Amino acid sequence: MLLVTTSFLLDRSDLRDLAAKVDSGERLDEVDALRLFESKDLNALAALADLANQRKNGLRASYIVNRYINYSNYCILSCQFCSFSRKKRDADGFELTAEQMVGKAREALALGITELHIVGGLHPSLPFSYYVGFLKALKTLDPRLQLKCFTAIEILHLAWLARKPVRDTLLELKDAGLEALTGGGAEIFRKEVRSRIAKGKESGAEYLDVHRLWHQLGGKSTCTMLYGHVESLADRVDHLRQLRGLQEETGGFTGFIPLPFQPENNDIPVRTPPTGYDMLRTIAVSRLYLDNFDHITAYWVGMGLRMAQVALSHGADDIHGTIIEEHIFHMAGAKSPQMTTEKELVKAIREAGRIPVQRDTFYRPVRVLDEPAVSAAVSALEAGGDASAARVQDTVSAGG
Ligand code: SF4
Repeated sequence: MLLVTTSFLLDRSDLRDLAAKVDSGERLDEVDALRLFESKDLNALAALADLANQRKNGLRASYIVNRYINYSNYCILSCQFCSFSRKKRDADGFELTAEQMVGKAREALALGITELHIVGGLHPSLPFSYYVGFLKALKTLDPRLQLKCFTAIEILHLAWLARKPVRDTLLELKDAGLEALTGGGAEIFRKEVRSRIAKGKESGAEYLDVHRLWHQLGGKSTCTMLYGHVESLADRVDHLRQLRGLQEETGGFTGFIPLPFQPENNDIPVRTPPTGYDMLRTIAVSRLYLDNFDHITAYWVGMGLRMAQVALSHGADDIHGTIIEEHIFHMAGAKSPQMTTEKELVKAIREAGRIPVQRDTFYRPVRVLDEPAVSAAVSALEAGGDASAARVQDTVSAGG
């Protein structure tokens, strides 16, 4: 049954018939998704997406205490949208040793992280043993640390390096400590768009094949869509259709993360990032159409924390994590900070009228910060106590 306020909004909306479908639990099709994208009634869209989200997640909204590590920005490809990759001749290229990665992980463990999120370019010369080696070294550092690593595109590169079938490559990486695949590399699946923004990159079908295989091996992953460049709204719907299809088949996606395009330092002829309106409608349509996904993440690095907070009433139930050292979006001009604190994430969620939940890599609750718990955590933070939230905040303050 729709809430009275929702009905009031929808009675006057061109989305009335779709509201009835959502209300009755009927599945939206691609024509519906395109209509939702094209609607100018963001309030009605938000009301519907919020309804769909609250049916799945109630008032809970999650975040993760994590750290990013980019092991290298050297890459054999030159995707036109990418501002991150470098060639060996470039002065600002880098690659980390396993020891350097362990050092970063050790520092971050002291901040209370539960996850390392590790991706890099398609490195021209590092051997497969390098990747297996750093996974093992990081697992040895702390077996509880969840390692979410590599895009599907990197996995194909590693299989090529290892001269092994993708399945065997995934198994070997899993043995070394890999627990989840990241969702990067999806961009937009439609071939015509892909060749304009990421010429030479593996196809959408190949991306999906890697995730399918990983799911069949019992693994979980997230998935993404890079939007707001040269694609059409129909291209977005096509992309979501393929993700929903694979999820129907495997159930292996834990969450979907729409990524707003960042326009600086790359070769795409788009001058501005997606507007706030576009970010919110993309979150909302994703929530409504991807009905077999439990979680939609509003990625604060791309949206800004303020927009991610608003997205919590537009269908999102997660705002990602502390991150600590982000490069990829910032080299493309993202204006958000490179990290945030657990305190800021909790505050943003609370202020949006949701119950903050610290989650792990698989979106499972680590702790629920309901009213009394929030008060206690905030007090601990203010008093410099030793709650994990406080640990993150203390160190961040010390580092300026
Ligand atoms: S998007 Fe990834 S694969 Fe493409 S150039 Fe950048 S780092 Fe390389």
